[in-house]
Amino acid sequence: MELLENRIGKDMDREERKTALKKIGFEISKCQKCKLHECRNKTVFGMGNVMADIVVCGESPGREEDEKGRPFVGRAGGVLDSILMEVGLSRKDIFILNVVKCRPPKNRDPEEEEIESCLPYLKAQLDIISPKIIVTLGKYASQTIIGTQDPIGKLRGTILQVGNFLVLPTYHPAYVLRNPSAKEIVVRDIKMVMEAEILK
Ligand code: URA
Repeated sequence: MELLENRIGKDMDREERKTALKKIGFEISKCQKCKLHECRNKTVFGMGNVMADIVVCGESPGREEDEKGRPFVGRAGGVLDSILMEVGLSRKDIFILNVVKCRPPKNRDPEEEEIESCLPYLKAQLDIISPKIIVTLGKYASQTIIGTQDPIGKLRGTILQVGNFLVLPTYHPAYVLRNPSAKEIVVRDIKMVMEAEILK
């Protein structure tokens, strides 16, 4: 996938990035490109530090996210916060977003067509924020950003060069909720990111 070729925000300052992202947020809020717009309450653009070196990318909003318009504010978000705390990061250090900006009904998996429709928004966000590393949470974020069908169990734990970005796939916090022992693997993966030469 031609997802990660540009880093147009690289030379932008904080205000310029905020302005550019706001425009995309406005477009997303009106988006009707796929059927998910019919049942959403709020679009979930993402939030965090627009100057962040690390972007964390999830799959799609759940019920709480759809109500509040913010990413990872439900149970999986609690797991994510606890993982971040363990590695010494807070939400202010990173930017958190999702591949798909509207909640799929009953939290079903996003469909191919929904991911494709949302992809230009994700690409624009990543290009503006220009992180050094993207941490992809779970199968959908990892496969979409890397452009592969490989399973998450095979992808996780290795930093990959994808276009002009580095990508570290790891397990999704919802998986950690179901398999608590996976938490230490995610913690280890994210610690590896923080120790990567590029972040020093
Ligand atoms: N799961 C996700 O992938 N993203 C969210 O924002 C919440 C739960």
